[in-house]
Amino acid sequence: MTKIINVTVDPKYVTKYKKGYPLIHQEALANEEALQAEGSILHLLDKQGRFIAKGYYGKQNKGIGWILANNREEKIDFTFFKEKIETAMGKRKSFYKDELTNAFRIFNGEGDGIGGLTIDYFAGYYLINWYSEGIYTFKDLVIRALDESGNYKAIYEKKRFDTKGQYMDEDDFVKGERGEFPVIVQENGMNYAVYLNDGAMVGIFLDQRNVRKAIRDKYAKDKHVLNTFSYTGAFSVAAAAGGSLKTTSVDLAKRSKSKTIEQFSVNGIDYEQQDIKVMDVFDYFKYANRKQLKFDLVILDPPSFARSKKRTFSAAKDYPKLMMDAITITEKNGVIVASTNNATFGMKKFKGFIDQAFKEMQSNYKVLEERTLPYDFQTSRYFPQGNYLKVVIVEKL
Ligand code: SAH
Repeated sequence: MTKIINVTVDPKYVTKYKKGYPLIHQEALANEEALQAEGSILHLLDKQGRFIAKGYYGKQNKGIGWILANNREEKIDFTFFKEKIETAMGKRKSFYKDELTNAFRIFNGEGDGIGGLTIDYFAGYYLINWYSEGIYTFKDLVIRALDESGNYKAIYEKKRFDTKGQYMDEDDFVKGERGEFPVIVQENGMNYAVYLNDGAMVGIFLDQRNVRKAIRDKYAKDKHVLNTFSYTGAFSVAAAAGGSLKTTSVDLAKRSKSKTIEQFSVNGIDYEQQDIKVMDVFDYFKYANRKQLKFDLVILDPPSFARSKKRTFSAAKDYPKLMMDAITITEKNGVIVASTNNATFGMKKFKGFIDQAFKEMQSNYKVLEERTLPYDFQTSRYFPQGNYLKVVIVEKL
C-alpha cells in the first residue's frame, strides 16, 4: 500500500489547486515536513482540513510532485494508471493508423493526467521517461498497463532523476526482446535512426515533427540551407528530402558528424554532397561573415542553456543576439526558422526577441507561420508552461 500523507495548502494557493493547476510546489505547502518518502500519495487539504486534490510526492527541478485527481474517491491504483494510459493511446489513434509515421509520443505527462511521466513509441518499442524517484515507484503499474494495452517489442526507460535531476546512465532495457539499434523509424515518409539504449538522447526530437515536414514541403526546394545546433541533422535531412541545393549542419558535439552522416545515409542521401561541421555555432557565424556566405534558409534550434569552453548561451538572455547573427547571413527574401524549447518565457516574449533583433539590424521581416507542440504532445490548459515549444518562421524582407 502506498502511504497517504495529508498536507495543508497555504491559503494563497488554494484556489489555484481547486481550479486544476497540476504542479505541487514546495512553497504551496504549509507543513512540508510531512513529506517523507517519494512516491507517497499526498492529500492536499485546506486549513479547515477540507479535501482539495490528491497527487504524489516526487522531486523534480520544477516542483515536488503532481496532482493526479481532484476527486477524493479516485484511487491511485493500477486501474487509475491503466485508464490514463488507455485514454492517452486513444487520443493518438490517427498516429497508429498513419502508414508514413511510426514514431510519436503516446503519453505526455500532466497533459495526459500524470505529470513526471512520458512514454514515446518508436516502431514497436516503448520508451518511458521517469522524471522523479517518486513517479518511478509506480513503475510496475505503468508496465502492467502497457502489457495490457497491446503488443510491443520491448520497453526501454530513461531515469531522469539523479541528484542534479539529470539522466542516469545505465542499461535502459526494461522488458521484452532486446532491440538491435539503430532502429529505423519513419516520420512522414522520412527515415530516422534511433538508439534507445545509448544515453539520454535517442537521435530525434519528436516534438519538431511538423516543423521538419514544413521545412521539407514548403521551404527547402532549391535552397541553400544552414542548420545550426544541428545535433543529428534531423532538420537537414528534411531539407535535403525537400530538394535543397545543399545543407550545412553545424554542431560542436563530436558525435554529431557521424550521427548526421547516418541520418542522411538511412534516407539514401549522399552525405558527401552536404556540409557537416563540428564547430561552435558562434565561431561559424564569424567564419561565414569573413567569407561573406549567405543562406536562403537558416534554422535556429539552440538548447535552452549551453556551456562550452568559450561561452555560455542562455536562450532567455541571448536569443536576440543569436537571431541577429542569423539575420546577417540570411539572403534577402530568405527564411529563418527560429525555435526554442525554453519554458521560462512564452510565445509573446519570443516574438519580441525576434522583433528586437530585426529592429537592431534595421531590417524588415514578415512572420510566415507560428507553431507550438504537435498534437501527440498533449498539454494541460491549467499549466501553460508545459507548452514549451515555440517556433516562428519569418521571411527577411
Ligand atoms: N536542432 C536539433 C536539436 C538540437 S539539441 C534537432 O532538431 O534535432 C542542441 C544541440 O546544440 C546539441 O547537439 C549540442 O551539441 C549543440 N550545441 C550546444 N551549444 C552549441 C554551440 N555553441 N555551438 C554548436 N552547437 C552547440
